[in-house]
Amino acid sequence: MSDKTAPVLAIQDLTVGYQTRNGIIEAVRDVSLEIRKGQTYGLVGESGSGKSTLALAVMRYLSANGEVRKGSITFNDRDLLDMSTNELRQVWGKEISLVPQDPFSSLNPSIKIGEQLAEALRQHTNLNAGEAATQSVDLLKDVRIADPENVADKYPHQISGGMQQRVMIAMALSTEPNLLVLDEPTTALDVTTEAAVLDLFRELVYERQTSALYVTHNLGVVAGISDRVAVLYASELVEDAPTKDLFAQPLHPYTRGLLDSVPRLGQRKDERPLQGIPGSIPGLQQLPTGCVYADRCPLAIDICFDERPPLDTPVEGRRVRCHRWPEILSGEIDARRADVEAIAVEDYSSQPLLDLDDVEVHYPVGQSLVDTVRREEPQVVKAVDGVDLTVGTRRTLGIVGESGSGKTSLARAIIGLVARTGGEIELLDMALPPELNTRGKDVLRHLQIVFQNPDEALNPYMTVGEILRRPFVNLLDESRQAADEKVAELLQAVRLPAEYTERRPPQLSGGEKQRVAIARAFAANPDLMLADEPVSALDVSVQASVLNLLNELQIENASTTLFISHDIGVVAYLSDEIAVMYLGNLMEVTDADQLFDVPYHPYTEALLSAVPAPDPSVKKERIRLEGDIPSAIDVPTGCPFHTRCPRFLGDVCVDEKPPWQTAPNGKRIYCHIPVEELMDIQKPVVKFEE
Ligand code: SF4
Ligand code: SF4
Repeated sequence: MSDKTAPVLAIQDLTVGYQTRNGIIEAVRDVSLEIRKGQTYGLVGESGSGKSTLALAVMRYLSANGEVRKGSITFNDRDLLDMSTNELRQVWGKEISLVPQDPFSSLNPSIKIGEQLAEALRQHTNLNAGEAATQSVDLLKDVRIADPENVADKYPHQISGGMQQRVMIAMALSTEPNLLVLDEPTTALDVTTEAAVLDLFRELVYERQTSALYVTHNLGVVAGISDRVAVLYASELVEDAPTKDLFAQPLHPYTRGLLDSVPRLGQRKDERPLQGIPGSIPGLQQLPTGCVYADRCPLAIDICFDERPPLDTPVEGRRVRCHRWPEILSGEIDARRADVEAIAVEDYSSQPLLDLDDVEVHYPVGQSLVDTVRREEPQVVKAVDGVDLTVGTRRTLGIVGESGSGKTSLARAIIGLVARTGGEIELLDMALPPELNTRGKDVLRHLQIVFQNPDEALNPYMTVGEILRRPFVNLLDESRQAADEKVAELLQAVRLPAEYTERRPPQLSGGEKQRVAIARAFAANPDLMLADEPVSALDVSVQASVLNLLNELQIENASTTLFISHDIGVVAYLSDEIAVMYLGNLMEVTDADQLFDVPYHPYTEALLSAVPAPDPSVKKERIRLEGDIPSAIDVPTGCPFHTRCPRFLGDVCVDEKPPWQTAPNGKRIYCHIPVEELMDIQKPVVKFEE
């Protein structure tokens, strides 16, 4: 697409402010960008960067306390900011459409899908009711919904999140708009559903030459779908470039920091450690006078603290807001941090620490009165359905799987937060009773957990000092004075200032809270640490330092980690071994450095193919799963994956449980297809550039 065509959307020098009790804060400052016909423009940034405010300003959806303070937004040569509400109604939905993050809150829960689509069509076209109904079904077909007539007749709550998002895309495209604004549209979806929605988005936008502003925090998504990327930081556009160029040679130190904070597919902790970015984004109330990134930038020099850098054009088609871009471009200086070392990995696998034998977590679903009167058998959710697993001393075992895979239930059964209903768990040759309240202190101190959301794990009324003192006093019977000394050491270990002992959780940032939660978990020097999505709620620049911290503490404490995540890139980076779960069952267990090598379990093959790679040069085989993960109440017979398996063999997969097989490279795979045959028919899913 030539950049010489007239822009569909032109944002010029835009500043957006919010009126707050403390005065006006500017959430977007002096931002300019242009989107051409058929172009997808990715807008990336962490929380507080201003990316969502920019999207809302384009939609003219700013909240009552928000206002455009300066600049212009032109859409197809018309001034959007000058339009009356009536004029905007003609534009919304017809010429500019929004696809939000949460489709459910945008669909009317009391109107059937087909009627909602028909209503949107009739608002903007001359179709009569019958024609609109027919076209609604066609639109559902266009977004690859199987059985569209049936879906048109359903209410939003009767279809899955992935299908709701397809309906939103169908609705957004129904009037063939010139511009789509997408605000994190796949963030709430599982990776296989996300991949299918992104495929669909790419195809439809390409076919119709629609322009798109795609807002996301996910560098993998942006690498896969956008032609250009703009990076926002603390309300400013700091860099903007064609996607390939930005990933190949970022010119702004913040962009470099972001890229080095997420693991590339196949990146391992012992080869190339994640860099992370120390510190946090500045508060918008008090932006620095110089460069907004100066207090976190490894290349900051005096001028950076005194003068705000201009947005320069170092080469045609690229812009960057940094005083030192000429030196970065020429290679004289580099924003990569030199102080982060690769993590030494030793092989301790021969000594087992944790042993799971046929572990089950089944629980009945609440019965209605009618069911009870009819004496119906209660339905049973099989959250974990017979897992055998051994984890070696000082190893990190990663468990990956989508929602409903049972990975969190398995972790909770190990820690005792849910009582297992079958099987045995041994830790250090001690049998663990199912319920937490029957486990003695001597058992409790051996295993600890870090949760996804530190807000739920930390008591907001206690000081950090009190929170960290408790495990020493309660589990290790230390005196208060001895505990206080150890609290100071712990804070140092998680790199928080000593004065934080007096702060309470609401006074800390998300990353700081998670550091406190990690410090508390390591306080009693546990042998086994369960980390359940510990970085999912954090911005990527903070994620990297928390992951590295987990690793360092594990090595120092000589402990074992069970790391649970939906993010395969992160699991592959951190783990020594990986277990892939689906519907309460293990599908594959592999050494992490073999994860990307054939053979794969067919589910792992599809998962790897779906992962968004934060690197446009990575090529992947395209394997897509049909439908959604079935309910754990109704686990398919035979192989639990048979209803979606792209390599389905036939009756044997429906009728018989598959055998566990061991491949020559040591992978264990739960499938009826012999591993030799898998090795013949499968190709490496991910191709890394040499
Ligand atoms: S202007 Fe200075 S502080 Fe800002 S990004 Fe560039 S080198 Fe870093
Ligand atoms: S056993 Fe059958 S359904 Fe299951 S993964 Fe193997 S081929 Fe697919």
